[in-house]
Amino acid sequence: MLSKSKSVALLTAVAVSIITTSFLSLVDGVPFIGLLVVFFLSLSSTYILTYFTVDVFIFGQIEKINARINKLKAEDFSFIEEDNKPIKGNPLMRINREILTYAQTKQREIDQLKKAENFRREFIADISHELKTPIFAAQGFVHTLLDGAVKDKNVRNKFLKKAAKSLDGLDRIVQDLLTISQVETGVVKMEMEDFNINLLIQEVYDQFEGKAEKKDIALSFMEGCPKDCYVFADRHKIFQVVLNLVSNSIKYSKDKRSFVKANLVEHEKNIEIILKDNGIGISEKHIHRIFERFYRIDKSRSREKGGTGLGLSIVKHILEAHNSQINVTSKQNDGSEFSFKLQKGHT
Ligand code: ADP
Repeated sequence: MLSKSKSVALLTAVAVSIITTSFLSLVDGVPFIGLLVVFFLSLSSTYILTYFTVDVFIFGQIEKINARINKLKAEDFSFIEEDNKPIKGNPLMRINREILTYAQTKQREIDQLKKAENFRREFIADISHELKTPIFAAQGFVHTLLDGAVKDKNVRNKFLKKAAKSLDGLDRIVQDLLTISQVETGVVKMEMEDFNINLLIQEVYDQFEGKAEKKDIALSFMEGCPKDCYVFADRHKIFQVVLNLVSNSIKYSKDKRSFVKANLVEHEKNIEIILKDNGIGISEKHIHRIFERFYRIDKSRSREKGGTGLGLSIVKHILEAHNSQINVTSKQNDGSEFSFKLQKGHT
C-alpha cells in the first residue's frame, strides 16, 4: 500500500503533468514525443517535490506531534533532549516546539516535586533520629529512678540532672526548628532598622565572656577594624547569626591560645562582617555540607557541646531573608573564616 504522502504526491504529480501537457498540446508544432517528455518530466519532478514537502514538512511533523503527545500521555519526557534547534517558520514545527517546551516545563516540575519529596523524607528521618536521642536518654533516667534508684539520694540527683540536660537539648532542637520554619515560611517578618554592628558584636562577645575566659579564648576585633559601622537589617536576627558563629568558634576551638577575631570591611553599598577563628577547621570534604540541617562533622563533639546541628542552617536562612549569603573558607586544623554582607545603614 502506498503511504499517505506518496499517494498525495502521485495524485498531485499526475494532475500537474496532465494540465501542463494539455496546455502544451494547444501550442502548434509540438511533436508527440515532446509532449511525452514534458509529461514524464513534470510527473517525476512534481512527484519528488510534493512527496518531499508533504512527507517532511506535513506528515513528518504530524507524526512527530503524535508521537510526542503519546509520550506525554505516558509521562515519558525522553524526547526533550532530541532537538534544541531554533524555531523556523513552519507552523507545524512550531507546534512541535510548543509541545517540547510544555514537556520541558512539566519535566522541571516533576524534578522539583521529586526533590521536595526526597527532602521531606530525609528531613523526617533526620528529625526523628535527632528527637529520639534526648527522649530515649531522659526516658532511661526516669525509668531507672522509678525502678527504685529514686531511694538513693545521690543517684536520684545525678539522674534527675541528666534527664533535665537531655530535655534541655530537646528544647533547643525544637526552638531551632521553630526558628528555621518561621524564617523559611516568612511567618516572622524582618524588622529592619539601622544599628551599630560593632556594638552588636561586642554584645555577643560579652555573652560569651565567662565561657571564653574559662577556655582561654580571646574574643576581639581585628587590628584596624573600622569603628561604629551601621547596617540596615533585623537586629535581633543578626544577633542570632553572630551568636551562632561565635558560639561555633568557641565550641570548635583548639585547646590552646585560641581566638575569635571580628573584622568589618566597608564596600560601596554593604558592610562585610568577617568572623575568623583559629579552631579545628573544616576539611574540604565537609565544607559544602555544613549549612544543611542536622549536618555535623563530629556528631559526638557537637552533641557534647550542646549543638543541635541546626545553627548554621539558621544562619543561612536568616541571611537569605536579608538577600545575603554566608561564605566560609576553612582548612582542617587551621581555623575558619565565616563572612556575610549587610546593607549599609545610616547613623
Ligand atoms: P552544631 O550545633 O553541630 O554546632 P552547626 O550547624 O552550627 O551545628 O554547625 C554544623 C557543623 O559545622 C558543626 O557540627 C561543626 O562540625 C562544623 N563547624 C561549624 N562552625 C565551625 C567552626 N567555626 N570551626 C570548625 N567547625 C565548625
